[in-house]
Amino acid sequence: MCAYPVEPFRIKTVEPIRLITPEERQEALRRAGYNLFALRAEDVFIDLLTDSGTGSMSQEQWSRMMSGDESYAGARSYYRLAESMQAIFGFEFFVPTHQGRAAENILCTLLVKPGSHVPSNMHFDTTEGNIRARGGIPENLVIDEAYHPTSRHPFKGNMDVDKLRAFIRRVGPENIPFGSLTITNNAGGGQPVSLANIRAVSEVYREYGIPFFIDACRYAENAYLIKLREPGYANRTPLEIAREIFSLADGAWMSAKKDALVNIGGFLATRDAALYERISNELILREGFVTYGGLSGRDMDAMATGLWEGLDENYLAYRLAQTEYLYNQLHAAGIPTIEPAGGHAVYVDAGRMLPHIPHAEFPGQALSAALYLEGGVRAVEIGSVMFAHPDPETGEMRYPELELVRLAIPRRVYTQAHLDYVAATLAQLKDQAGKLCGYKITSAPALMRHFTAQFAPLEG
Ligand SMILES: *Cc1c(COP(=O)(O)O)cnc(C)c1O
Repeated sequence: MCAYPVEPFRIKTVEPIRLITPEERQEALRRAGYNLFALRAEDVFIDLLTDSGTGSMSQEQWSRMMSGDESYAGARSYYRLAESMQAIFGFEFFVPTHQGRAAENILCTLLVKPGSHVPSNMHFDTTEGNIRARGGIPENLVIDEAYHPTSRHPFKGNMDVDKLRAFIRRVGPENIPFGSLTITNNAGGGQPVSLANIRAVSEVYREYGIPFFIDACRYAENAYLIKLREPGYANRTPLEIAREIFSLADGAWMSAKKDALVNIGGFLATRDAALYERISNELILREGFVTYGGLSGRDMDAMATGLWEGLDENYLAYRLAQTEYLYNQLHAAGIPTIEPAGGHAVYVDAGRMLPHIPHAEFPGQALSAALYLEGGVRAVEIGSVMFAHPDPETGEMRYPELELVRLAIPRRVYTQAHLDYVAATLAQLKDQAGKLCGYKITSAPALMRHFTAQFAPLEG
């Protein structure tokens, strides 16, 4: 028997990739200001920058692309999406959006005021950016184990419920327009949240009258990890678990570019009719009419089908085993990572791998630049470039606890040989780790600087 699930698909269309020479990589990275987001994708060999919108669609999804209804209002594609939405999430109201952040923008525009506080286990970058853009203050209240890379807690994405209560009492529930929970916790290692924890968080928010919105990007991976790890769920389907999760919330938003297996799309859902009316007005102003919200009919059709494929158990077993396979390869090579493997990505602990580079010189940036130079592999820094910010009161720089490099695995795209290559490249880098230098930022915008900042290597 094979030690891991075999891909539950075969390949019908191929897209060539090419490894350019070390000199060309050096030149490409210099031209990009050492920001991997600024590279041309064609200069990348294995692209693990993100799992967002980078998946392969199935033949069923491509067929739906052809039968999409492009009517401006009331398209058949919208009703197909609404059917999937109702069956899986069960919210009374939803609007399609072009991405997750469009849903975040609408929610934050309507609810967040200057000085508002928004708690979560951990906000992701776009959520944090949208809250801050409205003058709000995001707060991360994940359990302490999340900050211990080697802790093997099965649900490291859990919210610390005691911290949440203390936080609500301190800032006052009237200053919290909504509370959130990110499943799985992308900024903290792609770690899942247990159903027991989701229930406990829901009860606390309810007790204080705070609307509870789930950031649902990877809800299917989270549901499958609940099935594998949480007592009492082994015989439940991912769909049943998902329904139970969302029954505990007042609303949700999602980037469909993750677990809905599409290249573009998202939604914002609620049970509150009055809020839905305000959301619709905002949507019409910024995204489009309520039955398309920034998507074409074919996009909605692909999403309606992709939502179901993302919940398929054979797919999820393969998906999570593939991530774990890469994790095991890195582990065997002695590369420090967040343990255990995340759902969609493996997170290399650059802080531990490059202990000679301080927070202020961006160890995650140093490692991701080196990974590209060494093997044409693109990853993303999730550390001080992304999350360091000056304290609003003292102005002193506040650094995140972990300096990570995320190797995100696109869905249904790369084979095991690709992942072996990535592991081998990192193993080679480990031998030269002491020689890697830090970076300084030469220019950056105020918010979400990791996308466009420019860097220069610090020699020596
Ligand atoms: C991707 C992501 C978002 C934002 O979604 P986009 O579609 O990229 O705008 C929000 N939250 C989490 C947890 C994500 O992973």
